[in-house]
Amino acid sequence: MSAVVKKAAVTGHPVAHSRSPLIHGYWLEQHGILGEYARIDVAPAAASDFYRNLRSAGLVGANVTVPNKEIAASACDWLDETARTMGAANTLWLDETGRLCGANTDGMGFLGNLDQLAPGWDRSQGTALVLGAGGAARAIVWALLSRNFTAVHVVNRTEEKARKICDEFGSKTFAHGWESLGTLLGKVDLLVNTTSLGMTGKQPLEIDLSNLPRHALVNDIVYSPLETELLKQAEVQGNPTVDGIGMLLHQAVPGFERWFGVRPEVTDDLRALVLKDLGVFV
Ligand code: NAP
Repeated sequence: MSAVVKKAAVTGHPVAHSRSPLIHGYWLEQHGILGEYARIDVAPAAASDFYRNLRSAGLVGANVTVPNKEIAASACDWLDETARTMGAANTLWLDETGRLCGANTDGMGFLGNLDQLAPGWDRSQGTALVLGAGGAARAIVWALLSRNFTAVHVVNRTEEKARKICDEFGSKTFAHGWESLGTLLGKVDLLVNTTSLGMTGKQPLEIDLSNLPRHALVNDIVYSPLETELLKQAEVQGNPTVDGIGMLLHQAVPGFERWFGVRPEVTDDLRALVLKDLGVFV
């Protein structure tokens, strides 16, 4: 009798760029699991049907990337709190009754990265400043509130988008335009860049950290380059820093555990493997 090979996949349009097969392939091999993790291009028009029929595609679950995350959430029979809050799902699985379930693990990826590389970072539950108000920022605001941060300031070029997030997340969140940055920096315990500024090929993130309290942790979720100008400036000032690659790796953990039954570890070897594949040299 042949063993049942469980199969999962990253789905989206396009999916050629996704590093998920590399990450899950590494864990499958590390744990000696006879499983598969594929790359399946699913156009938005076909996405709802595809997710509703995961089993007939031979899948026990899937990751979902742009532009299908909202469609995937709508196709689900059940969503966890994160996916419900985001209105978007990046991790799907079938439960024991065959229901299609969805989660959004970006916020967990953010938390997992800081928990691993800056243990105790959330102990003081102070004030955080999130730069940017896109999809990643929403997940991170949710994550910070889940760790009981007292105040979360969202600063964005388009202030309206920051306000939309803060309206949704309530009285501990505060929306600002970019001009407020200088004043706000003086009173934060955590600074997170979630804009695409500073990424290879994008405009630089022009920011003066001299006002930032020395104890404040600085995290950039941009991981190409790995050590962004923001992180370099923070290090020169003596602020603790955490880079962004770990968020990408940690967001993959819950899916692997659901599909293959083992909670995998984010190791230095995995970091090095993914960075090498991205052409990012440390
Ligand atoms: P998004 O929804 O497109 O949001 C982009 C954000 O960047 C918006 O706040 C946008 O401001 C801001 N921005 C872009 N160009 C700008 C400029 N010239 N000046 C000022 N602000 C600018 O993207 P996202 O999905 O949130 O992702 C944002 C970044 O995080 C990307 O670099 C992505 O690669 C990275 N990311 C990393 C991880 C990880 O695992 N480490 C996970 C998710 C995302 P406006 O609203 O004013 O346009």
